Amino acid sequence: MFEKILIANRGEIALRIQRACREMGIKTVVVHSEADREAKYVKLADESVCIGPAASNLSYLSMPAIISAAEVTDAQAIHPGYGFLSENADFAERVEQSGFVFIGPRAESIRLMGDKVSAKHAMIEAGVPCVPGSDGALPDDPKVIVQTARKVGYPVIIKAAGGGGGRGMRVVHTEAALLNAVTMTKTEAGAAFGNPEVYMEKFLENPRHVEIQILADQHGNAVWLGERDCSMQRRHQKVIEEAPAPGIPRKTIEKIGNRCAEACKKIGYRGAGTFEFLYENGEFYFIEMNTRVQVEHPVTEMITGIDIVQEQIRIAFGEKLRFKQSDIELRGHAIECRINAEDPFKFTPSPGRIATWHTPGGPGIRVDSHAYAGYFVPPNYDSMIGKVISYGTTREQAIRRMQIALSEMVVEGIQTNIPLHRELMVDARFIEGGTNIHYLEHKLADMPVLSKKDK
Ligand code: ADP
Repeated sequence: MFEKILIANRGEIALRIQRACREMGIKTVVVHSEADREAKYVKLADESVCIGPAASNLSYLSMPAIISAAEVTDAQAIHPGYGFLSENADFAERVEQSGFVFIGPRAESIRLMGDKVSAKHAMIEAGVPCVPGSDGALPDDPKVIVQTARKVGYPVIIKAAGGGGGRGMRVVHTEAALLNAVTMTKTEAGAAFGNPEVYMEKFLENPRHVEIQILADQHGNAVWLGERDCSMQRRHQKVIEEAPAPGIPRKTIEKIGNRCAEACKKIGYRGAGTFEFLYENGEFYFIEMNTRVQVEHPVTEMITGIDIVQEQIRIAFGEKLRFKQSDIELRGHAIECRINAEDPFKFTPSPGRIATWHTPGGPGIRVDSHAYAGYFVPPNYDSMIGKVISYGTTREQAIRRMQIALSEMVVEGIQTNIPLHRELMVDARFIEGGTNIHYLEHKLADMPVLSKKDK
């Protein structure tokens, strides 16, 4: 096994990867920016290297700084976590060219899936159902664009081929608004992702977001680890995730899960990955694949008993998968609430020093967070400061445990979205299960706490 791994990330996922390594007896090197110097996980690592100032482009996104850190510390492999360079094919390539192992897929898989147009093509070929839409990228010819939209049927959504993080999308309801929307999305996509290519999909009105977790080794084996429902979203960003997805027949899920595992074999995928789908009227429609560990991976770990980060490391080292599909058993139910440093109802970021940090515990509660009392949440990065995960033998029990956990949790000094999670855990529709991706936004719009003046 590897003796030393460099963790090219920060925050809760840096700590999560560190814990996986320590359990496996692997030494860790953590790289950090000047803003993260005092973080506890930095002190807990066997070695740490400051790779630059707070600004991500000068630290966590600096490929030469990270690769130099691996060189001076003699690390053998680099785990990219999520976000930052995790889905950057050039980084994966440079890591391997410098003689280190990239803990993730081959650069060509990242490239294939990073472009949503080529990803959809590959999925159609592999027999994975996709959202109906344009055949590849939209051409410049306005006549063709108008015709495509008529064929697909309104409303349509214009999406950037290079998009990510819920950005670079525009819904169009009428032909009158179409061409302008295409031009605007193209301009934005060019500026934000360096790729002006856009494509068109049918805009599904009431879908759920359901995704399949997969693991594939370098020997042609692939398995899927059940599904996650991530429909509770705001601005296309996930807020709550759970596994399994309530109310979807197992047969339907099994069919799509097996397709995903087959697709991995077909494209020679290695590592952990997630196939994201929209689910509407009993049908699955592929939207994109994430070629990395995801924020919400713990809910899958809770119901399968499989440590996804450790499996990523084993796969990268060249080991064969230790289980077949028939060995994978889904047991119980798990829910994750993302804890963000932000105003719970206005969503403005709330960085600063945490005065009180009291986390919940007890049966079935897991808290993945790098925060503590006295920790300073830097304003430079994503506002997520941790995740509370609950497990129960039934969904009811997982909800009940989460309600209790959230009632116990105390964070002072900064604002967090814990009050929002408390509301959602007693929301009648959430408790019923199966809400769609628009539910949270509609609920927020109707919430009495948001007086007109606050809006
Ligand atoms: P990103 O890479 O930015 O996360 P995705 O393609 O995964 O983009 O889409 C993110 C979210 O946008 C989905 O979870 C869903 O809420 C919404 N979305 C994307 N495509 C469609 C579609 N065709 N119809 C309806 N909603 C969509």
